[in-house]
Amino acid sequence: MNAKPTMGQLIWRALRCRCPACGEGRLLTGYARQVEACAVCGARFGHIRADDGPAWLTILIVGHIVVSLILTVEPNVDWPQWLSMSVWVAAAIGACLLVLPRAKCFFIGAIWRAGAPGSETV
Ligand SMILES: [Zn+2]
Repeated sequence: MNAKPTMGQLIWRALRCRCPACGEGRLLTGYARQVEACAVCGARFGHIRADDGPAWLTILIVGHIVVSLILTVEPNVDWPQWLSMSVWVAAAIGACLLVLPRAKCFFIGAIWRAGAPGSETV
């Protein structure tokens, strides 16, 4: 078994949706369903429940980015209202779709690294 990764390694592996233990195997199958166990190192993740953590982190990150962009760009452009609504809603949805699986990987990795049971049933 590999030594536990540093927080920097954990974040990097989460950004690539890779196994927090080895950094090689995929942590998600499909869009955001976690694997039972890493195909490379065998570390088990199926019992870990990230619950609302990934959604919270996604909203935190995307909200700060999109609102900052809106406040920076909107005063300097003369877009019709329909265009502004379309652009910012699409940007927010796209950013959420991009960030959510990575946030889930981060939470699963952090729970795994902490050695927490990861579920309410031990
Ligand atoms: Zn692995």
